[in-house]
Amino acid sequence: MTQKYDAIIIGAGVIGTPIAYELSKLGYKTLTVDKQPDAGEGSTAGSCAIVRAHYSTEDGVALAYEGFKYWLDWENYLGNVKDEKGLAKFMNTGSILLKSEGHDWRKVKKHYDAVGVQYEEWDNDTIKAKVPVADVHKFWPVRRPEDPKFYDEPTEMLEGAIFCPEGGYVNDPALSAHNIMRAAETHGAEFIFNAEVVDIRSENNKVKGITLKDGTRIDAGIVVNVGGPHSYKVTQMAKGVWEGCNIKTKSLRHEVMYCPSPDGYDYLNDGYHMSDGDVGCYTRPEVGNMFLIGSEDPECDKREIVDPDEFYAGRGGHGKDNVLTDEQWKAQCYRWAKRVPSLQVPNQPKGVVDLYDISDDWIPIYDKSDMDGFYLAIGTSGNQYKNAPVVGRMMAELIDACEKGRDHDNDPFQYDFKYLTRTINVGFFSRKREINQDSSFSVNG
Ligand SMILES: Cc1cc2nc3c(=O)[nH]c(=O)nc-3n(C[C@H](O)[C@H](O)[C@H](O)COP(=O)(O)OP(=O)(O)OC[C@H]3O[C@@H](n4cnc5c(N)ncnc54)[C@H](O)[C@@H]3O)c2cc1C
Repeated sequence: MTQKYDAIIIGAGVIGTPIAYELSKLGYKTLTVDKQPDAGEGSTAGSCAIVRAHYSTEDGVALAYEGFKYWLDWENYLGNVKDEKGLAKFMNTGSILLKSEGHDWRKVKKHYDAVGVQYEEWDNDTIKAKVPVADVHKFWPVRRPEDPKFYDEPTEMLEGAIFCPEGGYVNDPALSAHNIMRAAETHGAEFIFNAEVVDIRSENNKVKGITLKDGTRIDAGIVVNVGGPHSYKVTQMAKGVWEGCNIKTKSLRHEVMYCPSPDGYDYLNDGYHMSDGDVGCYTRPEVGNMFLIGSEDPECDKREIVDPDEFYAGRGGHGKDNVLTDEQWKAQCYRWAKRVPSLQVPNQPKGVVDLYDISDDWIPIYDKSDMDGFYLAIGTSGNQYKNAPVVGRMMAELIDACEKGRDHDNDPFQYDFKYLTRTINVGFFSRKREINQDSSFSVNG
């Protein structure tokens, strides 16, 4: 017999689990399906889980700042649920955005003022006092070590920084998704794992349900694509949906490096998250007193689109795409060693490789689709971990409104934030939008 639910969520990552949680709270009987063995084991597991508010659009800043409030209130958000694996922890280090040509920080500051983000402005002396290992020279433009100019001596200084005290990172992103799953279950949400969706069934352009690889058919009038880096494949399973999207998604490889902190500097306990467009890197503390170093996608770094099935098939170091490359290791670590000259750069690459589900303009798609009952929460572009709890509630309310007859394409749903006194036009995230030219077209969103 075919099983029936009100809503099926494809993907139990950090974006899918809060959608299941919030839909269940609204009274929908949900089933979340994932081909991985547990929640958060897709690209969420590889996330740096940094929580910062600097984005290139005001709506992007607002969404992220609203997200801060959930992480600061994590246990309450989860309804004080118990998880046998323990709870993920928000590490409230604060977040430094260096003022450099690599970020349009004046625009960010304007958005901070408009949204009401708490921040401080630091001069270079304050940066030195707070991060004693930092060199505050300006190294712009971002180059790769292969470029002979990479080693030119800097002559100018940075212009200071903008510091957000409420920022930080989450210590275990996969666990955070697991925590949300446990919270959702207390409202009746169900989850199945090791189950791969291979078809989205529909009739007269209305979604009917999903079919799994083993032939199992499960019916629901609502299906939500939260497939992460596989999102484009799931979108293509639903007849006509891909063609109806003006903004598309694809899967981009991204490397993150670990380097031991300089001797005598306790980065793990005294350090901040830093975004440094001047050397094209972001960093945060990592267990073992390491600097975790990611690339901010400067123009000189190549962008590598890969097939997520091939990539994840080889996870654990055996795949063709998922081992760190010496070139990128050197690029990211050497760049960061300009900012922190006493950084210890070992000669063996150490870190994480995973996939971003990028959209054409690096802004996500949170939307309905051209098929009735089929919804999209995709294109999270390496920058939506922090927003997951907000997205869960926003998507659940959007779905509820559409199911009750709202014509979201022509009369976009307006979402009232839970914490900020602010409403967001969810049409901002439409699949039908033109490419948003205000975007940084990078992980900065
Ligand atoms: C290296 C890296 C660093 C990042 N750093 C940050 C950061 O510092 N801050 C930030 O805010 N964001 C960051 N991000 C982005 C953030 O982590 C992602 O936006 C977020 O984790 C995406 O969650 P998701 O639930 O959409 O995807 P996933 O976690 O990938 O979940 C999708 C799930 O769908 C399942 N699935 C797909 N297809 C099928 C199918 N056919 N059948 C069944 N199941 C299927 C997959 O198995 C997977 O578990 C980073 C991302 C990466 C990769």
